[in-house]
Amino acid sequence: MTDRSESQDPGLKPRPRFGPLPEWAGLSTRLVHGARRPEYNAGAVVPPIYQTTTFHFPSEFSEAAEKGGVYLYSRLANPTVEVATETIRQLEGGEAARLFGSGMGAAMSLLLSLLKAGDEVVALDVLYGGVLDVLSDVFPKYGVSVRLVNEPAAREPESVLTERTRLAWIESPTNPLLTVHDIARWARACDSVGAILTVDNTFATPVNQNPLILGADLVVHSATKYLGGHHDFTAGAVVGPNELLSRIDTKGNIGAALDPFAAFLLGRSLKTLALRVARQNENGRAVAEALAAHPAVRRVYYPGRASPEEEEIAARQMRGRGGMVTVSLNGGVEAAERFLRRLRFVHSASSLGGVESLASVPALTSHRHLSAEERERRGIDSGLVRFSLGIEDSVDLVRDMTEALDALP
Ligand code: PLP
Repeated sequence: MTDRSESQDPGLKPRPRFGPLPEWAGLSTRLVHGARRPEYNAGAVVPPIYQTTTFHFPSEFSEAAEKGGVYLYSRLANPTVEVATETIRQLEGGEAARLFGSGMGAAMSLLLSLLKAGDEVVALDVLYGGVLDVLSDVFPKYGVSVRLVNEPAAREPESVLTERTRLAWIESPTNPLLTVHDIARWARACDSVGAILTVDNTFATPVNQNPLILGADLVVHSATKYLGGHHDFTAGAVVGPNELLSRIDTKGNIGAALDPFAAFLLGRSLKTLALRVARQNENGRAVAEALAAHPAVRRVYYPGRASPEEEEIAARQMRGRGGMVTVSLNGGVEAAERFLRRLRFVHSASSLGGVESLASVPALTSHRHLSAEERERRGIDSGLVRFSLGIEDSVDLVRDMTEALDALP
């Protein structure tokens, strides 16, 4: 609803709020209708792209800026970016959200804003490689100590957090081994020492899992992945309570702003998120089952598959298991490369979450900066292949993969 009551000056452009949906509106309805304000956009059903860096100064500039009621410069706020922001906020059930130009832009803005010298960060040691890299190599240079925890300690967060822990960073399922961690247990442990629990929910998606509802303080996304869903732009998101979001780069000076055109594509993609993820959940399950039954496959990694304990946690905190499947082949890296070359419907490429199925070898892509020993210690063997299943027909993906495996010597 447009609220112009804050100013009598027609030169001011107060930022219109989104009309609330009824409480009972479901996920798919929210994805389509959650961020509507057509009266602000000449009645357009599809919000336009405000492809502008700047906006006319209101005549009472300083007063308006204090109220935060106007658009000034697109690095700070842009109407197209706000549409996708509002949808993602609702999806994760947070009070506030903020979008960035990439998932790493979101991660860095969050970490730089909330940490200071002397703080300690506790993070899983099997995480997206870029986050692991900045935690290990960048933050210690600024006096932040970082402790990486692995299995089995990561199963008992109470034993790894200390009074000095300012922030804990976890993923569930993790990249690339799809390990499931107990988010509610991590949240309780963080609460008991006053640490902020941040969960990277990129792999699960808000369709399958809502960390804030499980007790996490902040959720991060590489919106480049499932939220964007088409492998055609990069974006990132942070969702959480007003109190924390109001401390995350609100002045926009870290500079990782999302571009209006990418925000338009994101807003468009979000409308089909539930449909896409439902198919990707189906494809993930079908491929995991087929690969597990094939003699060329040494081990299949899939959320909940590692142990009865993980299955119990996954069943409790996830509505679907997602479209990621990782395999280790008997023939190591040579077999992996041969296998990938034979696939017809799976592109060999990094990234994930889009409509096209992709496969990558983590040792050569997301975790290439780790030494071979560091990878080995984390269970990332060189023959590991990580699949991101798209929205193709399940039977076609299973057939493609089975035939490629059958042809291995
Ligand atoms: N988090 C996870 C789980 C990821 O897989 C990635 C990228 O692959 C990122 C964060 C970083 O996101 P971006 O590539 O959009 O910067």
